[in-house]
Amino acid sequence: MQPSRIQPMPNMSQRNPTDRLTVDQTVVVLGAGINGAALARELLLSGVSVAMVDASDIASGATAWSTRLIHGGLRYLEYGEIGLVRESLAERNRLVRLAPHLVKPLEFVLPVERRFGGMWAAAARLLGWESLARRWRSNRGRGSWTVSLGLTFYDWLSIGSGWPWHRVVRSGRTGLPRFDAGQFPLAGVYWDAQLLYPERFTVELLVDARRIAAETGAMFSLFTHHTPRLLPDGRLRIEPTSGRGAEPSGGVVTELVPAGIVNATGAWVDRTLPYILPSTDGSRPESRLIGGTKGSHVVLRSTALRKAIGSAGLYAEAADGRPVFVLPFGPRLVLVGTTDIPFYGDPADAQADGSEIAYLLEAAARFFPDVALGREHVQQHYCGVRPLPASNGEAKGSGLPASVTRRHMLVRHADAPLPTWSIVGGKLTTCRSLAEKAAAEVLGCLQVAVRDTSRNRPLPGASADAARTALIAQTVAEASRAGVPEAAVHRVAECTVDLFGARAMDVFAESGRGEKEVARRVLIRGTHLPAAAIEFCIREEWAASLEDIVERRLMLLFAEELTYETLDDVAEVLVGMHVLPREQKAAEVAAIAARLSRRYGKHIPSQRMAEGESDAS
Ligand SMILES: Cc1cc2nc3c(=O)[nH]c(=O)nc-3n(C[C@H](O)[C@H](O)[C@H](O)COP(=O)(O)OP(=O)(O)OC[C@H]3O[C@@H](n4cnc5c(N)ncnc54)[C@H](O)[C@@H]3O)c2cc1C
Repeated sequence: MQPSRIQPMPNMSQRNPTDRLTVDQTVVVLGAGINGAALARELLLSGVSVAMVDASDIASGATAWSTRLIHGGLRYLEYGEIGLVRESLAERNRLVRLAPHLVKPLEFVLPVERRFGGMWAAAARLLGWESLARRWRSNRGRGSWTVSLGLTFYDWLSIGSGWPWHRVVRSGRTGLPRFDAGQFPLAGVYWDAQLLYPERFTVELLVDARRIAAETGAMFSLFTHHTPRLLPDGRLRIEPTSGRGAEPSGGVVTELVPAGIVNATGAWVDRTLPYILPSTDGSRPESRLIGGTKGSHVVLRSTALRKAIGSAGLYAEAADGRPVFVLPFGPRLVLVGTTDIPFYGDPADAQADGSEIAYLLEAAARFFPDVALGREHVQQHYCGVRPLPASNGEAKGSGLPASVTRRHMLVRHADAPLPTWSIVGGKLTTCRSLAEKAAAEVLGCLQVAVRDTSRNRPLPGASADAARTALIAQTVAEASRAGVPEAAVHRVAECTVDLFGARAMDVFAESGRGEKEVARRVLIRGTHLPAAAIEFCIREEWAASLEDIVERRLMLLFAEELTYETLDDVAEVLVGMHVLPREQKAAEVAAIAARLSRRYGKHIPSQRMAEGESDAS
């Protein structure tokens, strides 16, 4: 192990944490998931310096393992979470405006078996009588009257926003998913939104955080693959690590004296606390804050199902009454989720098991009996742990996982040596509003005025659909200049715009310019992406490993044609940029292929084999 070197933060005075706090002091945000990233950005908008630490990579927790919806949460109405639904709908509408390249409106269809039914169960649930609601629940789900009432209320909560009003229609209409109209003759139709890549959304929040820092003169530093530890004298020690929960790996150590700490480590909140709330007797500092539940998804590759879904998502009840989503996932894949099972282990170890995969396949098949669905259609699966509040009275009625509140809260640790908070709960959808409220509380404590908020601040890649044609044309020009072959250039431009929005042109800006060009190939094999995109993610987006690029920057994790050659091309660029030593390249490629197989059930063939394979349907 290399000896550690200590590197103080630049411009960082080592103050006593009880000194009067001023704006040049740094707030430390632990966890670079969507909530931590949104909070860092919000604090910077008020001129406060921020240091972020993530034990792994940006968005490597629940943010990446979610159902990827930006939604009001229709179901929460039955639990009487009116405030949460209203807030979520307002944020949904805002995020579609501020990040239109990533957050897209999506039509949803809710299949209904009959006109009446479900009203008493809904009323019982609203009153908090969950066990009665379960007893009164009919195997035939909610009737169209109940659905229509719920959707009307949903519409009212975002009245004036210009979003289309819901409809109840006969099933089998053109334009709607072709589910079993015999069993489900009616359908409620309404709109929410899909965020295909929350990983990229989170990266953009941080790119914006860096921009804000440059504009305001505040400092912003982001330490990924580092672990934090608060020392008894008030210094926070930030050390490189080889993984979450792993021992420090040696290398440069940074120390600073934070003005405050926000623990935004999601489902890891309780596991992080002992590192920032040191206790003299080694006991756990407080009772448990998080009562996580694991949720699994399958990504299906079935041409028949994808065609049957069309451009809408299906929101329905599985046979056991649990909500299930069957969603378009890009032009060829379908995402089905999710389960909801109490989980007590390390969230990083949560994995979809065989029974969950079978459950999700069965749930989808219930609505599409004409589509033969089997294990062979599962391209991959993934699983995450919801950072829900420990259900000490928060769960209504029976305490069933589905009934635990999805609200978020900021918990102040009164016994901490310096101002310290933990974020508990939250959704992708409410990341910005959560950040705004949390920042207000932190700033209030630091006696700093709120100067600005992110309410009207677009993400750096924001580009409306109406501008897409022009953006692609500009990107084509840049890509051609960078040497992308004529035959591929349009598709490459489209794929680059899909990932980077208005920043797509910047991807090519540095490539093809003599010394700075390190990519060995112009395109990454098996994809329509330029090798320049890898350089861009390393240079501009804090990517530091093959895993970061594959899973959370270029989203190759979900590519249908992901082969060994693809991984090899990515690794070659990392070698060229001195991120990966050449002698470790082969082992790294083998390790990521093994991880994709073990963790996501994704088979990585060599390109020759992939070309011989066909769609299982
Ligand atoms: C199955 C499932 C489906 C969901 N679907 C939706 C949905 O459709 N719509 C929606 O709005 N919400 C959804 N959610 C909720 C949403 O995904 C989460 O609430 C949100 O992503 C939480 O973000 P976070 O930043 O708080 O936590 P995370 O994204 O989990 O980030 C926590 C970060 O902390 C880091 N970390 C861990 N330990 C430490 C440490 N000691 N020091 C430093 N860093 C550390 C981790 O590496 C990680 O990057 C879903 C969640 C799940 C699990």
